[in-house]
Amino acid sequence: MTMGANLLLSNVTKFYKDFKAVDDVCININKGEFLTILGPSGSGKTSLLKLIAGFEKINSGEILLNENSIETKKPYERNIGMLFQNYALFPHMNVFENIAYPLKIRKYSKADIKNKVTELLKLVDLENVEERYPKQLSGGQQQRVALARAIVFNPPLLLLDEPLGALDKNLRQKMQLEIKHIQQKVGITTISVTHDQEEALTMSDKVCIMNKGKVEQIDSPERIYQRPKTRFVAEFIGEINMVDCKIIEIDEEVAYVKAFNDREIKVIIDHDNGLEVGQDMLLVFRPENIAIIKSAEEWENTTKATIKEIIFVGDTLKVKVLINDITEVMIKASPSIKDTLSIGKNILLGWDSNNCSIIKD
Ligand code: ADP
Ligand code: MG
Repeated sequence: MTMGANLLLSNVTKFYKDFKAVDDVCININKGEFLTILGPSGSGKTSLLKLIAGFEKINSGEILLNENSIETKKPYERNIGMLFQNYALFPHMNVFENIAYPLKIRKYSKADIKNKVTELLKLVDLENVEERYPKQLSGGQQQRVALARAIVFNPPLLLLDEPLGALDKNLRQKMQLEIKHIQQKVGITTISVTHDQEEALTMSDKVCIMNKGKVEQIDSPERIYQRPKTRFVAEFIGEINMVDCKIIEIDEEVAYVKAFNDREIKVIIDHDNGLEVGQDMLLVFRPENIAIIKSAEEWENTTKATIKEIIFVGDTLKVKVLINDITEVMIKASPSIKDTLSIGKNILLGWDSNNCSIIKD
């Protein structure tokens, strides 16, 4: 079973009256890719999905599915699979009938329906419960039925809008991986919407961060996390340190900045970024990317620091340090070195140029 299409959004804009909910959005999703749209409540995520599904009309821009414009097509003509938070299974239909429903309304033959539903039951691992009714299923099983129903008719695209939002944390994490595995097996191009950063990083090939209707960054989960391009992205995901700095030299994909008063820090930068010597920037780095080191040798960037606070959080130690008596920075360390640390102690920190980046403020 293979499905999936290429989806291109170019300069898509949506107004509700005079409020711009989706602002000049450009996204390209390749066949078989899993893209997650991540952003705070009200950032336009659901609106964007509705435009793709055809429940709302775009005001300007273009949506191309396999190079064909779908703007004039009605939702059912777009034939897109959907799984939303309040996915309602039909309570009076058993599992088999629920999954068969989209095929029935598309007038598939009885034999085709039997084959296809059997295939899907196997895919979502529900072969032994096909005669049960929704209320006889666990939350996770209901979710899998809903997923099977959403993809049984070989849609070119699957849209998920916070489908796991109603589940408790453990089940949600389990279902994230299950949906991801099924998506990979089937190869269906998928767009998922969430405000849960962990979910986005776990499930996606690409993450699109939205803020106030605009795309802030589209990148791999690793790059979104390690190399945020804007302050919003940096702050929205995980814990991060942001320190004022000034560019003193640019050499292709490397920049040297002055930070912590007098330190020269080497950072990897992206090509074609419009950066200039003398610019004021923010140096950003994750707490876990800074190491407490014994000697400055072999590290591209080092600085002295003083320990201000040590916080035990189970699997890590969070250590608040002061650099050059002015800049507070949070770092993480293994709890196994707890005995070697104490408040007021002077330590040496080390990190490499690819473990930090600079962004415009
Ligand atoms: P998200 O899914 O990211 O929470 P939405 O796309 O639902 O965001 O909403 C984006 C913005 O558009 C919000 O400010 C919301 O109030 C507004 N909005 C959404 N739907 C409508 C509508 N039908 N009419 C007017 N405003 C709307
Ligand atoms: Mg929403």
